[in-house]
Amino acid sequence: MKSYRKELWFETGQRRELINITSNVSTCLAESGIREGLLLCNAMHITASVFINDDESGLHQDFEEWLEGLAPEKPYSRYRHNGYEDNADAHLKRTIMGREVVVAVTGGKLDLGPWEQIFYGEFDGKRRKRVLVKIIGE
Ligand code: ZN
Repeated sequence: MKSYRKELWFETGQRRELINITSNVSTCLAESGIREGLLLCNAMHITASVFINDDESGLHQDFEEWLEGLAPEKPYSRYRHNGYEDNADAHLKRTIMGREVVVAVTGGKLDLGPWEQIFYGEFDGKRRKRVLVKIIGE
C-alpha cells in the first residue's frame, strides 16, 4: 500500500471566503501515483471547513446568508467565546459546514459525482491556514 501526505496553504483576503480546491487536490492525487484508494482532505483549523458542493455563485451567496442567519459574526458580545477573540461565529460555521471530505480514488482520478467540487471554506481568514491531503491505496 502506498501513502501520500501534503499540506496546502491558503490566506484569504477576506474574513469569509469559499475557494474551489478541486484542482489542487487533483494535483496531489497525480503526484501520489495512487490509482485505487481513498483520499482524505481536511481543514487543519477549527474555524475553517472542507466540504463538497456545487461551484455556483448564487449557492455560495446562499451559504453566506444561511450561515450568517445561524451564527452571525456580530455583535461579537453575543458569544461567550469572544473574551480575547472575535471568532465564535467562525467556530460554529465550521462545525456545521464540516471538517473533512473523503473521496474515492478510481483509475487514478477523483471519483466525484457530476457536479461535485471540493471547497475550502474560510470563516476567520486573513492569515495563513492549512488543509491536509492524505491518500492511501495502490
Ligand atoms: Zn476562537
